[in-house]
Amino acid sequence: MRGRSRSELLLDVSAGPYTVRGVSLGGVYTSLQVPQLGALLDVGIPIRAFAGTDRIFLSHGHGDHVGALFGLLGIRGLLHRKEAPKVFLPAPIAGPIAEAISAMERLQRHALPVDLVPMVAGDEHRLRPDLWVRAFRTHHPVPSLGYLFFDRVAKLKAAYADLPGREIGRRKAAGEDLFETRERLELAYATDTLIRVLDTAPAIARARVLILECTFLDGRKSLEASRAGCHIHLDELLEAAPRLENERVVLMHFSQIYTPREVHAILADRLPPELAEKVVVFAPRSGPWPG
Ligand SMILES: [Zn+2]
Ligand SMILES: [Zn+2]
Repeated sequence: MRGRSRSELLLDVSAGPYTVRGVSLGGVYTSLQVPQLGALLDVGIPIRAFAGTDRIFLSHGHGDHVGALFGLLGIRGLLHRKEAPKVFLPAPIAGPIAEAISAMERLQRHALPVDLVPMVAGDEHRLRPDLWVRAFRTHHPVPSLGYLFFDRVAKLKAAYADLPGREIGRRKAAGEDLFETRERLELAYATDTLIRVLDTAPAIARARVLILECTFLDGRKSLEASRAGCHIHLDELLEAAPRLENERVVLMHFSQIYTPREVHAILADRLPPELAEKVVVFAPRSGPWPG
């Protein structure tokens, strides 16, 4: 009998300084952990190794993104964590999610503690001394959000850039305000959206890493049909490529009309070299989709 190792279920890729781990298949499941951010992005499948993650970010209420939240919270209960996980989610789905959790609690007859954090586009939260998150609008037929993780760093104001170090030190000691706060955009997560997200949230194209859906890849799904479902088609991404200033772009949420091998082959064939060198394909190199 052949077994299947955990590493065969979970894909693990590097994107700049970040690790993106998990599974993603359009309409089936998306659940990605970025350990450096202590973040779990969507819960379309209850992965045991992710149950200890304290911050969960839900993009929208479709089953392939939230359907396994209740299972994951159950697994978390086995860990005897004192703290309830924070679940950041679009404000309009906070009520239904709370009701679903409550129904699950009644089914199981034990509590599934969570700390729901309803968000609207533009809301931000400080997650750690060096990490913030801001929600941005995505474009899908149900309430949806993307999340941009960033740091705030003090930078010398441009007017002082040419001063020698000694002079900067002297002025600083004299109490002069030499610095301004800048945002360092680290990682953006945008799934289940029209490509228009690049117009309405242009900052995500400047984040160091962009995790972006690209559900459809060729003529097997027309551009019109892809847009009707509010998803990104590779034709649109190729057109938008010059705007992507990211160091790495992780493409995910591919449709199951493609095998993993086809996803790699189509992207290898269609991506221009300048985009190919920054794209990380979130699909197994061979074999079937997990599960
Ligand atoms: Zn989806
Ligand atoms: Zn969706």
